Amino acid sequence: IVSKLPNVGTTIFTVMSALASERGAVNLGQGFPDFNCDPALVQAVTGAMQDGLNQYPPMAGVQVLREAIAQKVKALYGYAYDPVSEITVTAGATQGVLTSVLCAVHAGDEVIVLEPAYDCYVPAIELAGGIPVFVQMTVDANGFSVPWDKVAAAVTPRTRMIMVNTPHNPTGTVLKAADIQALADIVRGTDILILSDEVYEHMVFDQQPHESLSRHPELAQRSFINSSFGKTYHVTGWKVGYVAAPAALIAEFRKVHQFNVFTVNTPVQYGLAAYMKNPAPYLDLPAFYQRKRDLFRDGLKNTRFKLLPSEGTYFQCVEYGAISDLPEAEFSKWLTTEIGVAAIPVSAFYNTPKESGIVRFCFAKKDETLQLALDRLARL
Ligand code: PMP
Ligand code: GLN
Repeated sequence: IVSKLPNVGTTIFTVMSALASERGAVNLGQGFPDFNCDPALVQAVTGAMQDGLNQYPPMAGVQVLREAIAQKVKALYGYAYDPVSEITVTAGATQGVLTSVLCAVHAGDEVIVLEPAYDCYVPAIELAGGIPVFVQMTVDANGFSVPWDKVAAAVTPRTRMIMVNTPHNPTGTVLKAADIQALADIVRGTDILILSDEVYEHMVFDQQPHESLSRHPELAQRSFINSSFGKTYHVTGWKVGYVAAPAALIAEFRKVHQFNVFTVNTPVQYGLAAYMKNPAPYLDLPAFYQRKRDLFRDGLKNTRFKLLPSEGTYFQCVEYGAISDLPEAEFSKWLTTEIGVAAIPVSAFYNTPKESGIVRFCFAKKDETLQLALDRLARL
Protein backbone atom coordinates (compact mmCIF):
# COMPACT_ATOMS: atom_id res chain seq x y z
CA ILE A 1 0.00 0.00 0.00
CA VAL A 2 1.01 3.61 -0.33
CA SER A 3 2.12 4.75 3.12
CA LYS A 4 0.17 7.59 4.72
CA LEU A 5 3.19 8.31 6.92
CA PRO A 6 6.18 7.68 4.65
CA ASN A 7 8.62 9.45 6.97
CA VAL A 8 7.68 7.51 10.09
CA GLY A 9 9.90 4.72 11.40
CA THR A 10 10.32 3.16 14.85
CA THR A 11 10.39 5.91 17.50
CA ILE A 12 13.75 6.99 18.90
CA PHE A 13 12.50 6.03 22.39
CA THR A 14 11.96 2.41 21.35
CA VAL A 15 15.26 2.29 19.46
CA MET A 16 17.30 3.64 22.38
CA SER A 17 15.53 1.50 25.00
CA ALA A 18 16.26 -1.61 22.90
CA LEU A 19 19.92 -0.65 22.53
CA ALA A 20 20.18 0.11 26.26
CA SER A 21 18.80 -3.27 27.23
CA GLU A 22 20.93 -5.12 24.64
CA ARG A 23 24.08 -3.44 26.01
CA GLY A 24 23.13 -3.45 29.69
CA ALA A 25 23.28 0.35 29.75
CA VAL A 26 21.59 2.50 32.39
CA ASN A 27 18.52 3.69 30.51
CA LEU A 28 18.20 7.45 30.90
CA GLY A 29 16.75 7.61 27.38
CA GLN A 30 13.02 6.93 27.13
CA GLY A 31 11.07 8.97 29.67
CA PHE A 32 9.56 6.67 32.31
CA PRO A 33 10.15 6.07 36.04
CA ASP A 34 12.09 2.96 37.10
CA PHE A 35 10.26 2.97 40.45
CA ASN A 36 6.74 1.87 41.27
CA CYS A 37 3.67 4.00 41.81
CA ASP A 38 1.97 4.48 45.18
CA PRO A 39 0.51 1.11 46.35
CA ALA A 40 -2.64 3.03 47.38
CA LEU A 41 -3.27 3.79 43.70
CA VAL A 42 -2.96 0.11 42.76
CA GLN A 43 -5.31 -0.69 45.64
CA ALA A 44 -7.86 1.82 44.36
CA VAL A 45 -7.80 0.30 40.86
CA THR A 46 -7.87 -3.35 41.94
CA GLY A 47 -10.61 -2.44 44.42
CA ALA A 48 -12.70 -1.10 41.56
CA MET A 49 -12.14 -4.34 39.63
CA GLN A 50 -13.16 -6.40 42.64
CA ASP A 51 -16.24 -4.25 43.05
CA GLY A 52 -17.31 -5.33 39.57
CA LEU A 53 -16.65 -2.01 37.83
CA ASN A 54 -15.52 -3.85 34.72
CA GLN A 55 -17.97 -3.00 31.92
CA TYR A 56 -17.99 -0.11 29.44
CA PRO A 57 -17.91 3.28 31.10
CA PRO A 58 -19.64 6.31 29.53
CA MET A 59 -18.00 7.34 26.26
CA ALA A 60 -16.46 10.52 27.68
CA GLY A 61 -15.17 8.84 30.85
CA VAL A 62 -16.69 8.07 34.24
CA GLN A 63 -18.41 11.08 35.75
CA VAL A 64 -16.59 10.90 39.13
CA LEU A 65 -13.23 11.11 37.37
CA ARG A 66 -14.30 14.03 35.17
CA GLU A 67 -15.55 15.78 38.31
CA ALA A 68 -12.25 15.15 40.10
CA ILE A 69 -10.34 16.55 37.09
CA ALA A 70 -12.57 19.63 36.92
CA GLN A 71 -12.09 20.27 40.65
CA LYS A 72 -8.33 19.95 40.38
CA VAL A 73 -8.11 22.32 37.41
CA LYS A 74 -10.38 24.86 39.14
CA ALA A 75 -8.37 24.69 42.37
CA LEU A 76 -4.98 25.00 40.68
CA TYR A 77 -5.66 27.27 37.71
CA GLY A 78 -9.00 28.91 38.39
CA TYR A 79 -10.87 27.85 35.25
CA ALA A 80 -14.18 26.04 35.81
CA TYR A 81 -14.63 23.34 33.16
CA ASP A 82 -18.02 21.63 33.09
CA PRO A 83 -17.23 17.95 33.73
CA VAL A 84 -20.26 16.93 31.69
CA SER A 85 -19.46 18.77 28.48
CA GLU A 86 -15.88 20.01 28.68
CA ILE A 87 -13.68 17.12 29.83
CA THR A 88 -13.01 13.78 28.15
CA VAL A 89 -10.87 10.96 29.50
CA THR A 90 -8.36 9.68 26.92
CA ALA A 91 -6.13 6.65 26.44
CA GLY A 92 -3.12 8.80 27.29
CA ALA A 93 -2.12 12.15 25.88
CA THR A 94 -0.98 10.52 22.64
CA GLN A 95 -4.61 9.72 21.85
CA GLY A 96 -5.68 13.10 23.20
CA VAL A 97 -3.34 14.89 20.82
CA LEU A 98 -4.28 12.76 17.81
CA THR A 99 -8.01 13.16 18.46
CA SER A 100 -7.71 16.93 19.06
CA VAL A 101 -5.94 17.32 15.73
CA LEU A 102 -8.20 14.94 13.79
CA CYS A 103 -11.36 16.70 14.95
CA ALA A 104 -10.14 20.24 14.27
CA VAL A 105 -7.66 20.22 11.39
CA HIS A 106 -8.99 19.92 7.86
CA ALA A 107 -7.05 18.92 4.74
CA GLY A 108 -4.78 21.78 3.74
CA ASP A 109 -4.96 23.56 7.10
CA GLU A 110 -1.68 24.75 8.54
CA VAL A 111 -0.57 23.88 12.06
CA ILE A 112 2.33 25.74 13.66
CA VAL A 113 4.71 23.39 15.48
CA LEU A 114 7.58 24.59 17.65
CA GLU A 115 10.74 22.54 17.22
CA PRO A 116 12.12 20.58 18.96
CA ALA A 117 8.69 18.91 19.12
CA TYR A 118 7.45 15.75 20.82
CA ASP A 119 7.26 13.01 18.22
CA CYS A 120 3.50 12.39 18.04
CA TYR A 121 2.53 15.89 16.84
CA VAL A 122 3.56 15.82 13.20
CA PRO A 123 2.12 12.38 12.31
CA ALA A 124 -1.20 13.53 13.82
CA ILE A 125 -1.20 16.60 11.58
CA GLU A 126 -0.27 14.55 8.54
CA LEU A 127 -3.02 11.97 9.19
CA ALA A 128 -5.51 14.86 9.30
CA GLY A 129 -4.21 16.06 5.91
CA GLY A 130 -2.85 19.19 7.55
CA ILE A 131 0.43 20.91 6.84
CA PRO A 132 2.95 21.32 9.68
CA VAL A 133 4.62 24.73 9.66
CA PHE A 134 7.81 24.64 11.75
CA VAL A 135 9.23 27.38 13.91
CA GLN A 136 12.46 26.48 15.65
CA MET A 137 12.99 27.47 19.26
CA THR A 138 16.00 29.67 19.91
CA VAL A 139 18.85 28.09 21.87
CA ASP A 140 21.59 30.02 23.62
CA ALA A 141 23.47 29.93 26.93
CA ASN A 142 20.17 30.42 28.79
CA GLY A 143 18.65 27.41 27.11
CA PHE A 144 15.69 27.18 24.75
CA SER A 145 13.01 29.83 24.28
CA VAL A 146 10.18 30.53 21.86
CA PRO A 147 10.79 33.29 19.28
CA TRP A 148 7.24 34.64 19.23
CA ASP A 149 8.03 37.11 16.44
CA LYS A 150 8.78 34.10 14.22
CA VAL A 151 5.57 32.40 15.31
CA ALA A 152 3.63 35.57 14.42
CA ALA A 153 5.38 35.67 11.03
CA ALA A 154 4.42 32.04 10.36
CA VAL A 155 0.69 32.76 10.72
CA THR A 156 -1.27 32.80 7.44
CA PRO A 157 -5.00 32.79 6.63
CA ARG A 158 -4.72 28.97 6.53
CA THR A 159 -3.36 28.64 10.08
CA ARG A 160 -5.84 26.47 12.00
CA MET A 161 -3.86 25.60 15.11
CA ILE A 162 -0.76 26.42 17.12
CA MET A 163 0.75 23.67 19.28
CA VAL A 164 2.48 24.50 22.53
CA ASN A 165 4.00 22.23 25.18
CA THR A 166 4.76 23.40 28.70
CA PRO A 167 6.77 22.12 30.54
CA HIS A 168 8.52 21.21 27.33
CA ASN A 169 9.82 17.84 26.21
CA PRO A 170 12.75 17.55 25.44
CA THR A 171 14.16 20.91 26.56
CA GLY A 172 12.70 21.24 30.09
CA THR A 173 11.71 24.85 29.33
CA VAL A 174 8.51 26.26 30.84
CA LEU A 175 6.43 29.04 29.33
CA LYS A 176 6.39 32.28 31.36
CA ALA A 177 3.68 34.91 31.70
CA ALA A 178 5.34 36.91 28.91
CA ASP A 179 5.16 33.89 26.58
CA ILE A 180 1.46 33.51 27.30
CA GLN A 181 0.95 37.20 26.59
CA ALA A 182 2.77 36.89 23.27
CA LEU A 183 0.68 33.86 22.29
CA ALA A 184 -2.53 35.68 23.25
CA ASP A 185 -1.51 38.68 21.12
CA ILE A 186 -0.93 36.41 18.10
CA VAL A 187 -4.27 34.61 18.20
CA ARG A 188 -6.51 37.49 19.32
CA GLY A 189 -9.03 38.33 16.61
CA THR A 190 -8.34 35.11 14.65
CA ASP A 191 -10.07 31.71 14.70
CA ILE A 192 -6.80 29.89 15.41
CA LEU A 193 -7.12 27.03 17.90
CA ILE A 194 -4.43 26.00 20.37
CA LEU A 195 -3.33 22.54 21.36
CA SER A 196 -1.60 22.78 24.72
CA ASP A 197 0.34 19.70 25.76
CA GLU A 198 0.61 19.96 29.54
CA VAL A 199 1.44 16.35 30.43
CA TYR A 200 4.23 17.56 32.76
CA GLU A 201 1.98 20.14 34.47
CA HIS A 202 2.88 18.87 37.94
CA MET A 203 6.64 18.97 37.35
CA VAL A 204 7.60 22.64 37.45
CA PHE A 205 10.56 23.55 39.64
CA ASP A 206 12.02 26.43 41.63
CA GLN A 207 8.64 27.74 42.81
CA GLN A 208 7.64 28.82 39.32
CA PRO A 209 3.93 28.56 38.44
CA HIS A 210 2.72 26.18 35.75
CA GLU A 211 1.31 28.54 33.14
CA SER A 212 -1.55 26.28 32.16
CA LEU A 213 -3.61 27.85 29.41
CA SER A 214 -6.53 27.23 31.78
CA ARG A 215 -5.14 30.10 33.90
CA HIS A 216 -5.86 32.36 30.94
CA PRO A 217 -9.57 32.35 30.01
CA GLU A 218 -8.94 34.22 26.76
CA LEU A 219 -6.71 31.34 25.61
CA ALA A 220 -8.58 28.53 27.37
CA GLN A 221 -11.67 29.29 25.29
CA ARG A 222 -9.82 28.23 22.12
CA SER A 223 -7.59 25.49 23.57
CA PHE A 224 -7.49 21.72 23.79
CA ILE A 225 -5.52 21.13 26.99
CA ASN A 226 -3.96 17.67 27.24
CA SER A 227 -2.71 16.00 30.40
CA SER A 228 -1.54 12.50 31.33
CA PHE A 229 -1.97 10.53 34.54
CA GLY A 230 0.96 8.39 33.40
CA LYS A 231 3.37 11.23 34.19
CA THR A 232 1.67 12.55 37.30
CA TYR A 233 1.26 9.24 39.11
CA HIS A 234 4.30 7.28 37.81
CA VAL A 235 2.16 4.93 35.71
CA THR A 236 3.20 5.57 32.11
CA GLY A 237 2.04 2.09 31.12
CA TRP A 238 -1.55 2.71 32.12
CA LYS A 239 -2.10 5.11 29.25
CA VAL A 240 -4.78 7.34 30.72
CA GLY A 241 -5.08 11.10 30.40
CA TYR A 242 -7.64 13.73 29.63
CA VAL A 243 -8.50 16.62 27.38
CA ALA A 244 -10.18 19.76 28.71
CA ALA A 245 -11.65 22.27 26.24
CA PRO A 246 -14.75 24.43 25.77
CA ALA A 247 -17.95 22.52 25.05
CA ALA A 248 -18.01 23.35 21.33
CA LEU A 249 -14.52 21.86 20.88
CA ILE A 250 -15.17 18.85 23.11
CA ALA A 251 -18.34 18.07 21.16
CA GLU A 252 -16.24 17.66 18.00
CA PHE A 253 -13.49 15.87 19.95
CA ARG A 254 -15.98 13.27 21.16
CA LYS A 255 -17.24 12.57 17.63
CA VAL A 256 -13.75 11.34 16.75
CA HIS A 257 -13.02 9.81 20.18
CA GLN A 258 -16.20 7.73 19.99
CA PHE A 259 -15.02 5.94 16.86
CA ASN A 260 -11.36 5.85 17.73
CA VAL A 261 -11.23 4.26 21.21
CA PHE A 262 -14.92 4.82 22.13
CA THR A 263 -13.87 4.97 25.79
CA VAL A 264 -11.09 4.18 28.25
CA ASN A 265 -10.86 1.26 30.68
CA THR A 266 -13.26 1.47 33.60
CA PRO A 267 -11.46 0.31 36.79
CA VAL A 268 -8.45 2.58 36.20
CA GLN A 269 -10.82 5.53 35.88
CA TYR A 270 -12.62 4.74 39.15
CA GLY A 271 -9.30 4.10 40.88
CA LEU A 272 -7.91 7.43 39.68
CA ALA A 273 -11.06 9.27 40.78
CA ALA A 274 -10.74 7.88 44.31
CA TYR A 275 -7.00 8.53 44.44
CA MET A 276 -7.37 12.12 43.23
CA LYS A 277 -9.34 13.00 46.36
CA ASN A 278 -5.96 13.50 48.00
CA PRO A 279 -4.08 16.33 46.25
CA ALA A 280 -0.78 15.57 48.06
CA PRO A 281 0.66 13.22 45.40
CA TYR A 282 0.57 15.90 42.68
CA LEU A 283 1.26 18.83 44.99
CA ASP A 284 4.40 17.05 46.27
CA LEU A 285 5.63 16.15 42.79
CA PRO A 286 7.66 19.32 42.06
CA ALA A 287 9.76 18.82 45.21
CA PHE A 288 10.10 15.10 44.50
CA TYR A 289 11.50 15.64 41.01
CA GLN A 290 13.41 18.81 41.85
CA ARG A 291 15.49 16.83 44.34
CA LYS A 292 16.28 14.24 41.65
CA ARG A 293 17.08 16.97 39.15
CA ASP A 294 19.50 18.59 41.60
CA LEU A 295 21.14 15.28 42.50
CA PHE A 296 21.68 14.52 38.82
CA ARG A 297 22.89 18.04 37.94
CA ASP A 298 25.32 18.08 40.88
CA GLY A 299 26.83 14.81 39.68
CA LEU A 300 27.17 16.07 36.11
CA LYS A 301 29.14 19.09 37.29
CA ASN A 302 32.16 16.77 37.53
CA THR A 303 31.96 16.06 33.80
CA ARG A 304 32.60 18.10 30.68
CA PHE A 305 28.90 18.17 29.83
CA LYS A 306 27.47 21.68 29.81
CA LEU A 307 24.12 21.73 31.61
CA LEU A 308 21.15 23.52 30.09
CA PRO A 309 18.40 24.70 32.45
CA SER A 310 15.76 22.14 33.49
CA GLU A 311 12.82 24.22 34.71
CA GLY A 312 10.27 21.43 34.46
CA THR A 313 9.60 17.87 33.13
CA TYR A 314 11.88 15.00 34.19
CA PHE A 315 14.46 15.75 31.54
CA GLN A 316 17.90 17.29 31.63
CA CYS A 317 19.53 18.44 28.38
CA VAL A 318 23.30 18.72 28.09
CA GLU A 319 25.71 20.04 25.48
CA TYR A 320 28.53 17.57 24.80
CA GLY A 321 30.70 19.68 22.47
CA ALA A 322 33.69 19.52 24.87
CA ILE A 323 33.54 15.71 24.77
CA SER A 324 32.81 14.78 21.17
CA ASP A 325 31.98 16.20 17.76
CA LEU A 326 29.81 13.24 16.73
CA PRO A 327 26.28 14.01 15.49
CA GLU A 328 23.69 13.61 18.25
CA ALA A 329 22.33 10.20 17.19
CA GLU A 330 25.86 8.76 16.89
CA PHE A 331 26.88 10.30 20.20
CA SER A 332 23.81 8.82 21.92
CA LYS A 333 24.67 5.37 20.55
CA TRP A 334 28.31 5.75 21.58
CA LEU A 335 27.28 6.85 25.06
CA THR A 336 25.00 3.81 25.34
CA THR A 337 27.42 1.21 24.03
CA GLU A 338 30.79 2.55 25.26
CA ILE A 339 29.92 4.42 28.47
CA GLY A 340 26.84 2.42 29.43
CA VAL A 341 24.31 5.25 29.75
CA ALA A 342 21.50 5.73 27.22
CA ALA A 343 20.34 9.23 26.21
CA ILE A 344 18.06 10.63 23.51
CA PRO A 345 19.41 12.83 20.68
CA VAL A 346 17.52 16.13 20.57
CA SER A 347 17.86 16.00 16.76
CA ALA A 348 15.15 13.31 16.85
CA PHE A 349 12.66 16.06 17.80
CA TYR A 350 13.33 18.03 14.61
CA ASN A 351 11.82 17.39 11.21
CA THR A 352 14.29 19.53 9.37
CA PRO A 353 17.72 18.00 10.09
CA LYS A 354 19.32 19.94 12.93
CA GLU A 355 22.40 19.27 15.02
CA SER A 356 22.80 21.27 18.22
CA GLY A 357 25.27 18.98 20.04
CA ILE A 358 22.65 18.32 22.72
CA VAL A 359 21.28 15.10 24.22
CA ARG A 360 18.48 14.53 26.73
CA PHE A 361 18.71 12.46 29.91
CA CYS A 362 15.65 11.35 31.92
CA PHE A 363 16.06 11.66 35.69
CA ALA A 364 12.79 9.93 36.68
CA LYS A 365 14.89 7.17 38.21
CA LYS A 366 15.74 5.74 41.62
CA ASP A 367 18.61 7.60 43.27
CA GLU A 368 20.79 4.50 42.92
CA THR A 369 20.08 4.37 39.17
CA LEU A 370 21.06 8.03 38.82
CA GLN A 371 24.18 7.38 40.90
CA LEU A 372 25.18 4.41 38.76
CA ALA A 373 24.75 6.55 35.63
CA LEU A 374 26.77 9.38 37.21
CA ASP A 375 29.56 6.96 38.16
CA ARG A 376 29.80 5.91 34.52
CA LEU A 377 29.51 9.45 33.15
CA ALA A 378 32.26 10.62 35.54
CA ARG A 379 34.78 9.28 32.97
CA LEU A 380 33.69 12.13 30.66
N1 PMP B 1 3.34 14.68 25.19
C1 PMP B 1 4.56 14.70 25.70
C2 PMP B 1 5.34 15.97 25.67
C3 PMP B 1 5.12 13.55 26.26
O1 PMP B 1 6.37 13.57 26.74
C4 PMP B 1 4.35 12.37 26.30
C5 PMP B 1 4.85 11.13 26.96
N2 PMP B 1 5.98 10.61 26.42
C6 PMP B 1 3.08 12.40 25.74
C7 PMP B 1 2.60 13.56 25.19
C8 PMP B 1 2.23 11.18 25.68
O2 PMP B 1 1.65 10.87 26.89
P1 PMP B 1 0.89 9.50 27.13
O3 PMP B 1 1.92 8.49 27.54
O4 PMP B 1 -0.10 9.78 28.20
O5 PMP B 1 0.25 9.11 25.84
N1 GLN C 1 7.34 10.56 26.30
C1 GLN C 1 8.44 9.65 26.45
C2 GLN C 1 9.73 10.38 26.19
O1 GLN C 1 9.74 11.48 25.74
C3 GLN C 1 8.39 8.47 25.53
C4 GLN C 1 7.09 7.82 25.30
C5 GLN C 1 7.19 6.84 24.17
O2 GLN C 1 8.05 5.96 24.19
N2 GLN C 1 6.38 7.01 23.19
O3 GLN C 1 10.76 9.82 26.42
